[in-house]
Amino acid sequence: MSHLYENNEIFDVIVVGGGHAGCEAALTTAKLGLSTALFTLNLDRIAWQPCNPAVGGPAKSQLVHEIDALGGIIGQLADMTAIQKRILNSSRGPAVWALRAQTDKREYSRKMLQILQETPNLTLREAMVTDLEVENISHRKDPLNTYQEKIGEIKGIRTYFGTVFLAKAVILTTGTFLRGKIWIGSQSMDAGRAGEQPATGLTEALQKLGFETDRLKTGTPARVDRRSIDFHSLEKQVSDASDRYFSFDPEVWTSGEQMTCYMTRTTKATHKLIKDNLHLTPIYGGFINSKGPRYCPSIEDKIVRFADKESHQIFLEPEGRDTPEIYVQGFSTGLPENIQLKLLRTLPGLQNCVMLRPAYAVEYDYLPANQLLASLETKKIKGLFSAGQLNGTTGYEEAAAQGLVAGINAARVIENKDMIYFSREESYIGTMIDDLVSKDLREPYRVLTSRSEYRLVLRGDNADRRLTPLGYKIGLIDERRWKIFQAKQQSIREEIKRLEQERVKENDPLALTLERESKGSIKGSITLANLLRRPGIHMSNLIQHQLVSNGLALSVKEGVEIDIKYSGYLERQNLQIEQIKRQNKRFLPKTLEYSKIKTLSKEAREKLDKVRPKTFGEAAQLPGVSKADLTALLIWLKIQNQKGNIGSKRKTLNKSLSGKASQ
Ligand SMILES: Cc1cc2nc3c(=O)[nH]c(=O)nc-3n(C[C@H](O)[C@H](O)[C@H](O)COP(=O)(O)OP(=O)(O)OC[C@H]3O[C@@H](n4cnc5c(N)ncnc54)[C@H](O)[C@@H]3O)c2cc1C
Repeated sequence: MSHLYENNEIFDVIVVGGGHAGCEAALTTAKLGLSTALFTLNLDRIAWQPCNPAVGGPAKSQLVHEIDALGGIIGQLADMTAIQKRILNSSRGPAVWALRAQTDKREYSRKMLQILQETPNLTLREAMVTDLEVENISHRKDPLNTYQEKIGEIKGIRTYFGTVFLAKAVILTTGTFLRGKIWIGSQSMDAGRAGEQPATGLTEALQKLGFETDRLKTGTPARVDRRSIDFHSLEKQVSDASDRYFSFDPEVWTSGEQMTCYMTRTTKATHKLIKDNLHLTPIYGGFINSKGPRYCPSIEDKIVRFADKESHQIFLEPEGRDTPEIYVQGFSTGLPENIQLKLLRTLPGLQNCVMLRPAYAVEYDYLPANQLLASLETKKIKGLFSAGQLNGTTGYEEAAAQGLVAGINAARVIENKDMIYFSREESYIGTMIDDLVSKDLREPYRVLTSRSEYRLVLRGDNADRRLTPLGYKIGLIDERRWKIFQAKQQSIREEIKRLEQERVKENDPLALTLERESKGSIKGSITLANLLRRPGIHMSNLIQHQLVSNGLALSVKEGVEIDIKYSGYLERQNLQIEQIKRQNKRFLPKTLEYSKIKTLSKEAREKLDKVRPKTFGEAAQLPGVSKADLTALLIWLKIQNQKGNIGSKRKTLNKSLSGKASQ
């Protein structure tokens, strides 16, 4: 190492950012035994929730369960600080059930800071990181050639005041702060979010290294004083899931008193005021043109896009136990400050409300994630990782999941271990990362259940079954958690076995009742499992008739019911997943001339010709080779095989397509 660096502090890993991605990343590398430093602009704003202090919801809750199954923190914190919990989509199938917790924003941040401060191997530092220390590298040994585009290796970071800190890996998680600018109406101010300075320097540092950056925006609604709202006429939303948790670890389950949320609606006066003043918003007035999140539109967007809708639901959600602040969900706006209060007062219950904070939008630089490998390491710089909002996503859960993955792989780069790639088939984490790195996304990305082809398998309740063995293997799940996991799986297996064996006979005193409840007859006898497969029957019926013990843990009862009820669908989906795994093991003919396969993208042809992967699985890992390219390749190989027109290559092709080759 150069003498220039002699007096500098040295860490294994430096994490830039103390948001949801940064905290998860730093806790992961520290837990894996690496000396870690987390740099952030303001230590009093650790894991801050600048928008709605809510965790979970459709697909996002699945992500949180997955993070917890791997030993991450977001689920535990949400459980510890929840002030209201609800199950969303409970009337629909288990694939889309979702836990959503309103959390106490300040307690959430305080608790995260405390956890970070108490974590061995972790140092916290308040500073603005403005540059990256990079050394050029010659080609490193890399059989898969995934590093072929690497132009350098990370050495550390430099702060605004010129101090250099050294590290073997750096994880960037700068959120909405890079050259952040907040907007209210046509007025703007340089800020990473309200009340916080923007981050300068890093965008230019990334651009200097050849990275492309672009700009996105997001927005947040006003906060009003609870004491100024007339709740009497408003519909209540009470907590209906106080016995549900994100974490699979019962030791962190706490159940404090739950708070109530309320619902109001936009009125004719709301719509008129917005239509009359549309030209004053940054988007419709043309002051900014960066893309905002499609799935969290501003109220003016909703009114313009759904012009025939007379009213929109607005939710009033508390921000914590010890604050009168109410978050007005569904009401983010770019209107000027002096119109915002008038607008709020058009909502029933808010006629006399006091506005504590105005709604605003924030514009920031991001790093299009197709510049990353699926490990979240940048393609250009060895040891430099990027996670969270910086990668073009929106949401705490998306950020936390990427932080965890970047943390795991940063540790593995340092220890010269194979990268961990999460697949679409096994997790929402993998689905999200695959979308991020393989598509050229130009608007904020939010995880949705519809993004997964395997959503029946990728449920929240079985996230531990899918991922805890990996968490244990890589050292993030300890022995205590491993025992909890094993005990739960054993209970599920034993109960399923019992229900598959025990029968109700047609002359049993209960038979008539069960026939009525299940809307089907019992001829001879029926196993309890087959009874449960009938549409009208649930575990609750079996418990009521004392055919199942009420003493079973809720997670076991649910796991058993889903596994049995949906066994047919699950088997089909698992079969599909197995086929994909088998396909990944298939060998590619050694002599293929990819440049001649015109159904492949130009980039894929070039990469495949250069790298010449041995299997489909290796090809899938190559940056620039998309799922569509793999399908095109498979079809091309099948056609050539059917035609039998490629002479000596035929034997290899047959082997490839049957998947039986050994090379
Ligand atoms: C106004 C607003 C509205 C939002 N609306 C929504 C929404 O509607 N829906 C939704 O899902 N999400 C929304 N979000 C996004 C949500 O806050 C983020 O998705 C989430 O916080 C991202 O987490 P992160 O860890 O990537 O970044 P952040 O939580 O933004 O954390 C970034 C961290 O990096 C630090 N940092 C930045 N630059 C530097 C530097 N150079 N040196 C040192 N430290 C640095 C900051 O201090 C901060 O700690 C909104 C955010 C804002 C600000």
